[in-house]
Amino acid sequence: MKLLVLLLAAFAAAERVRYDGYEVKRVFPKESDDLRHLAELRHDNRLDFWTEVQKPYTDIMVPPQMVEELEGRLRELGLPFMTIIRDVQKLSDEQKVAEPNEDGTPRAMDWTSYHRLVDIHGYMDQLAEDYPDMVTVMSIGSSYEDRDMKLIKVSTGSATQKMWIDGGIHAREWIAPAVVTYILRELVENYEENRDVVDLYDWYLLPLHNPDGYEYSHTNARLWRKTRSRWSGSCVGVDPNRNWDYHWMEQGASSDPCSEIYAGPEPFSEPETRSAADFIMAENADESFVGFFTVHSYGQYWLCPWGYDYIYPDDYDDLEDAGMTGVNALEDVHGTQFTFGPSAIVLYAAAGGSDDWAKGVGNIKYSYTLELRDTGFWGFELPASQIVPTGQETWEGIKAFARYFQ
Ligand SMILES: [Zn+2]
Repeated sequence: MKLLVLLLAAFAAAERVRYDGYEVKRVFPKESDDLRHLAELRHDNRLDFWTEVQKPYTDIMVPPQMVEELEGRLRELGLPFMTIIRDVQKLSDEQKVAEPNEDGTPRAMDWTSYHRLVDIHGYMDQLAEDYPDMVTVMSIGSSYEDRDMKLIKVSTGSATQKMWIDGGIHAREWIAPAVVTYILRELVENYEENRDVVDLYDWYLLPLHNPDGYEYSHTNARLWRKTRSRWSGSCVGVDPNRNWDYHWMEQGASSDPCSEIYAGPEPFSEPETRSAADFIMAENADESFVGFFTVHSYGQYWLCPWGYDYIYPDDYDDLEDAGMTGVNALEDVHGTQFTFGPSAIVLYAAAGGSDDWAKGVGNIKYSYTLELRDTGFWGFELPASQIVPTGQETWEGIKAFARYFQ
């Protein structure tokens, strides 16, 4: 009997979360009071904020049984809102995922579907095998559930400066790892076409910054955001983009383990953030990193520090000039509009992000967060048919940024 209970519990744990009838509400805050009210509302863990608390809109996923309550609350607060998604499950069902091979071997990468970790890591290993003079793959640490933090270095040997690009620190933002691997393909497989840019830097790419969360978002809960660590009680995971050791927990983060923005019991509690930080500190001892990009979705923002407070960095003009070069090149490809600025001022203060740490502690001057497509029509359920155009425009933006310094 006990065994049966255990088996049933294991089965239940493996069951996939469904989002039938879950809606996404778009709220339009105007005054700083409105933002404060939304920040308070975020403490209600039945709600799932798809965007940060931000102007001009904040998107909130709400379970069907709470729709009426939320609408009432928003009316009370005088916050205008509309419904942008009526059934999240329906969008999830339409998502094109490359089903993993049953024998656990990697499937060949393409950019017309979203791939599992085994395929992405397999692609990196394949490149190392096919281009041994140019590509090195290493593990910079292990995740909480003991998956490799696989990093790929692309170097043609002529560069003295370095560039960092990571994706997938938030598990459900599937377009991020897809675009980072797209950039990887451009660097390596399309080297001849891109050599003027590739040769300028040693490129360090970490396509899956949060491997446990990413896999969990495929196998159990599509909208999982955090890591999969267990610190207390029944709630799992830490927001890895609130966990970095720079002005940690000062604003826009939570000490509640059940919150989507739980900053962790202490800075760098998560092996995923700690290993990346240790690696960057060691590799940047000579301050050879010029750029740091952490790729997220969604909203179409090219953001710079600071995120922890409503202040501009002293060298904001430099960050804006280089960043806007990227934004303009990006927009030229498909006309996708991006907004540039410091994340706290453009959105809302949130401390403990990797971009703040990279600049404030890691000594990388040009540190940016990219929030890729879209502006909420699909949100995290961006169709796989948009991977290629999103990859194209992002790559053009990064290339223009990379050339800016020459
Ligand atoms: Zn994110």
